[in-house]
Amino acid sequence: MTAEHLTIAWICPELLGTYGDRGNVIALVSRAQARAIPIRVVRVDAGQPVPESADIHILGGGEDLAQEEVARQLGNDRGLRRAAEAGRVVFGVCAGYQLLGTSFVTHDGRTADGLGLLDIRSEHAARRAVGELLGTVPAPLSLPPVTGFENHRGTTVLSGDTRPLARTMVGVGNGDGTEGGFHRHIMGTYLHGPALVRNPALADLLLSWATGGSLPVMNDPWTEGLRSERLTALGHKPVTCIETEGAAK
Ligand code: GLN
Repeated sequence: MTAEHLTIAWICPELLGTYGDRGNVIALVSRAQARAIPIRVVRVDAGQPVPESADIHILGGGEDLAQEEVARQLGNDRGLRRAAEAGRVVFGVCAGYQLLGTSFVTHDGRTADGLGLLDIRSEHAARRAVGELLGTVPAPLSLPPVTGFENHRGTTVLSGDTRPLARTMVGVGNGDGTEGGFHRHIMGTYLHGPALVRNPALADLLLSWATGGSLPVMNDPWTEGLRSERLTALGHKPVTCIETEGAAK
């Protein structure tokens, strides 16, 4: 975090922003402001350099052609890579998740290079995964269950140091019983919803990574009500936390 502000780089929202993923930026801003953390958003449109000094870099979901274009541009830019290597937070959803990996499959079946920030590769499944997604988040992250919805054709294989975000209880996620992935402060997920609105503990985890400290508890009845409603709809009893052992850094 810079001395004055927490800075969010909102990357290519015109290309990566399906299903209301802009709500992830809104959630981070609102939850930071509720804790009196000064925060600003820098919009990085296609063709503009990614500011490696931003504290949190956000990428949303997108269609296959847009995903390929953003991967190409960011691969040439290097700003996101330098930010990730410096330990800054990177959060990608769906297309934004897949392109953080080493490779993904394009609309016409080619294998395209990702950025290689996560040790994951994405392939095409026989069927598109569409519907609600629910997963439990084990140690070391130890968050309450995550919920959202998914709409993707890719399935994702994790290896090396990249660990799954969640164990899938409802839905497809990565396609192997897990959902999302993270390494250090780089995280990706198939959760739309938007993910950081539906899962405030996930938003607070990213903010705590970016600020380097834990955040005061926030009273947010609207969001908690939404969580309860969605978890109940999936037949899952709302709980606030599971597997509290340890905390991820
Ligand atoms: N194009 C990717 C897929 O279908 C990502 C889709 C998305 O971002 N919703 O797998």
